[in-house]
Amino acid sequence: MSAVASATIFLQRESFIYVLYIIAFALFIQGLRGLAGPTSAVRGNRTAAVGMAIAVIATLLNREEGNWGLIALGIAIGMAVGVPAARQVKMTAMPQMVALFNGVGGGAVALISWVEFRNYGNSYAQGKLLVTNVNPAGLHAFPGPGGIIGRAGVLHGVALSSGPPTYVAIFSVFAAIVGSISFWGSNIAFGKLQEILPGRPITLGAAQQAVNLVLLVLALAAGVDLVAGAHSQLLFIGMLVCAALLGNAVVLPIGGADMPVVISMLNAFTGLSAAATGVALNNPALIVAGMIVGASGSILTNLMAVAMNRSIPAIVAGGFGGTGAVEGASGAGEHAGTVRSTTAADAAIQLAYANRVVIVPGYGMAVAQAQHAVRELTKELEARGVEVSYAIHPVAGRMPGHMNVLLAEADVPYDQLKEMDDANPEFPRTDVALVIGANDVTNPAAKNTPSSPIYGMPILEVSDSASVIVIKRSMNPGFAGIENELYYEPKTTMLFGDAKTAVSEIAAELSQL
Ligand code: NAP
Repeated sequence: MSAVASATIFLQRESFIYVLYIIAFALFIQGLRGLAGPTSAVRGNRTAAVGMAIAVIATLLNREEGNWGLIALGIAIGMAVGVPAARQVKMTAMPQMVALFNGVGGGAVALISWVEFRNYGNSYAQGKLLVTNVNPAGLHAFPGPGGIIGRAGVLHGVALSSGPPTYVAIFSVFAAIVGSISFWGSNIAFGKLQEILPGRPITLGAAQQAVNLVLLVLALAAGVDLVAGAHSQLLFIGMLVCAALLGNAVVLPIGGADMPVVISMLNAFTGLSAAATGVALNNPALIVAGMIVGASGSILTNLMAVAMNRSIPAIVAGGFGGTGAVEGASGAGEHAGTVRSTTAADAAIQLAYANRVVIVPGYGMAVAQAQHAVRELTKELEARGVEVSYAIHPVAGRMPGHMNVLLAEADVPYDQLKEMDDANPEFPRTDVALVIGANDVTNPAAKNTPSSPIYGMPILEVSDSASVIVIKRSMNPGFAGIENELYYEPKTTMLFGDAKTAVSEIAAELSQL
């Protein structure tokens, strides 16, 4: 036997493939640990990517993998679309990107389930026919996919040569339904965040929940029928369509402010559906990777829902949701109160004579890419003996961890970043809260106005500070589309302008003092 032939046999051994999978799993978990902190996040991401590359190679080594031309074509198309998209995406458009990529995962899972169903000859219970020929008398009561047939014990335990086991059919149907919901829901989330669709809730009103329930019941009924042995490709397609409509119907009524929770939840759905496909295809890599995504996505969803004081079932049912245009919310300039504007020079003096300054970054800092300028300003202040820290709201910006990533990129020491629960008790002993491009996450309406769409969301309580400086370009609202009372408080002054320019100007003024 030639050396190449023996090497091929060794590489394709099941035990070798399993060793590769175990290495891949270890790298996934190590990667996930790295993602827990901004300083190790890049390394963690690369570690998990290497793990995924090993898992893909291990799967391709499998002797049953055949159509190399199609596989190469799929990889080439995926890379041609994915690599430039990931390289060019702006940091501020990252949530849409996550939604889109997540949706593609769910869609792939749904398609794989459909292909598997077709492979079984349009019925998960193909084996039933074989036995019918053998002994028709005992077969109609409990025909089961996977070839285990039982009728009141008469034929219990008869194994057939074709048709998948029942659990494979169940997991395939589960993956198809959840993957389809995730694909369509993620596309709607993408459309809303990309402003292709209106960000406000689009709802059927009082009928919404009934419609959702009917779609869910129809999808489940079709799934049960398929697992029970219905011979119908049309039924499978009908099930996918019901799940697709449900994905649309669940996400369309959700307002923009709740979108991060929804994206994370759909991400968890995709993970679970991928794990189910892994069970159906007997692929351990899919099971483990899917469960990691499903579990971490579920934990993140819960953390965000708690941070925004939202109940996950209520979000899904459309019971909450920040709207893009809120009834009764006034736009720019409609508030009766007075706004005090300030200049970079005055802001610099106020900051220079403070003992303690807390910087509150938000989406505007990300848009302006002001993080490096902010870091320079911090250094100037620290050189003057001012104690500076950063208060980070869990949903500031447009994706979880958005502010942490930006500030880590600007080398802000990690110990200066305070999560909301640690930051809030510090505001009463803060001289100046410097709000840079943050709006909703500081809006007191979340505490004081029960009719507000963000009511109940915990906020950074900047108005507990002795004074507040807000940097933004205008009086326009933030993501939730609502007025911010903070701007009318006597202790607040507004420095209008682009965040990067304004922060640089303050730093320049400081250096002159
Ligand atoms: P925000 O409420 O969206 O407000 C951002 C503010 O930045 C705007 O009012 C805008 O005012 C200002 N701005 C924009 N460009 C600027 C620039 N170049 N320079 C200076 N200011 C600029 O942001 P946030 O306080 O960070 O709150 C996040 C919101 O996004 C929440 O409603 C949250 O629910 C939602 N969200 C979060 C995530 C997540 O996972 N983090 C994902 C999706 C949605 P001007 O136009 O007047 O400048």
